[in-house]
Amino acid sequence: MNDEKKKILIVEDEKDIVQLIAFNLVQSGYEFDMAYDGEEGLKKALTGDFDLILLDLMLPKMDGFEVCKRIRQTLDTPIIILTARQEEVDKVLGLDIGADDYVTKPFMFKELISRIGAHIRRASNDVVKNSAAENIIRIRELEIDCLKYRVSRAGKPVQLTKTEYELLVYMAKNLGKVFSRSDLLKKVWGYNPEYSDERIVDVNIRRLRSKLEADAGNPEYIMTKHGIGYYIK
Ligand code: CA
Repeated sequence: MNDEKKKILIVEDEKDIVQLIAFNLVQSGYEFDMAYDGEEGLKKALTGDFDLILLDLMLPKMDGFEVCKRIRQTLDTPIIILTARQEEVDKVLGLDIGADDYVTKPFMFKELISRIGAHIRRASNDVVKNSAAENIIRIRELEIDCLKYRVSRAGKPVQLTKTEYELLVYMAKNLGKVFSRSDLLKKVWGYNPEYSDERIVDVNIRRLRSKLEADAGNPEYIMTKHGIGYYIK
């Protein structure tokens, strides 16, 4: 681990909120930069200088949905969406924009900071520390190279976000074991399930399936155990 401060990008047009978030980030030992509109936010995000991005949805020039999708075309930096309304939450969960999580405004700063911390710890988790025997996980056509952080199916590379990757590796290392959504929130996201929305797990599972499975509607790898949770077969 290095002691370099982690840097967060805040993309939000309400300056009061930016100030409050920035204040809380600095208090918690983070550096930050900000952008007040979508275009500037995207430009800054794409420099790749950030460990995590906080992204509002209703933004001037380019909305957060578009910004998120475009960041995801090249980067796997964790993205937490800041939403103001329930309809937005439903849209975030329903659309495949590639966000890692969302928080609803007005949010508790303690909760926001703890989620940022959880994502950053996970993102900087040194998978290389795994024992050599676990460096490559093979499940039929699926191959996960934990050293290179790469996933492929039948030799074809599959591009995953960090959350999707960690979710896959966690379940793949416990093949056949059924995990509840709150287990996964706790272990993969590092969250307290009591304060979190379990639907974010479903969204990530759905995305993983659409990327990994030949037919996402009829999965061969990521299975649902009805009423209980998910497992890898
Ligand atoms: Ca806004």
